[in-house]
Amino acid sequence: MPSDTVSAADALTLLPLPKFNALSQDQVRGIACIWDGVPLSTATAVDLGERRVKQFGQHTSWFPRACRPCALKQAMAALVDHGQSCEQCIDDHNLCTTGLGLVRAVREARR
Ligand SMILES: [Zn+2]
Ligand SMILES: [Zn+2]
Repeated sequence: MPSDTVSAADALTLLPLPKFNALSQDQVRGIACIWDGVPLSTATAVDLGERRVKQFGQHTSWFPRACRPCALKQAMAALVDHGQSCEQCIDDHNLCTTGLGLVRAVREARR
């Protein structure tokens, strides 16, 4: 199964994010990187997919964005982390959708 079976948007939703409540307004609005706060433009931003967050007691959709270096670093870290703890990946990583998704996330962040 090629890793293209996992969509780019799905792949990037696999990355763990910083705590929503600890972020600045700009980070929440998607105009600053959620990891290091670097200002983003449409050209430099990586969309991390739709997330569900609880705000003021209500669940809402949130579309966090990051700069490319951070997204790549986080995707690589998540991939290494996952690979070390997932039996399916150690056995045959082509059968693990999470593993494939993270490989895809690294590729997307590298673009
Ligand atoms: Zn960043
Ligand atoms: Zn796995």
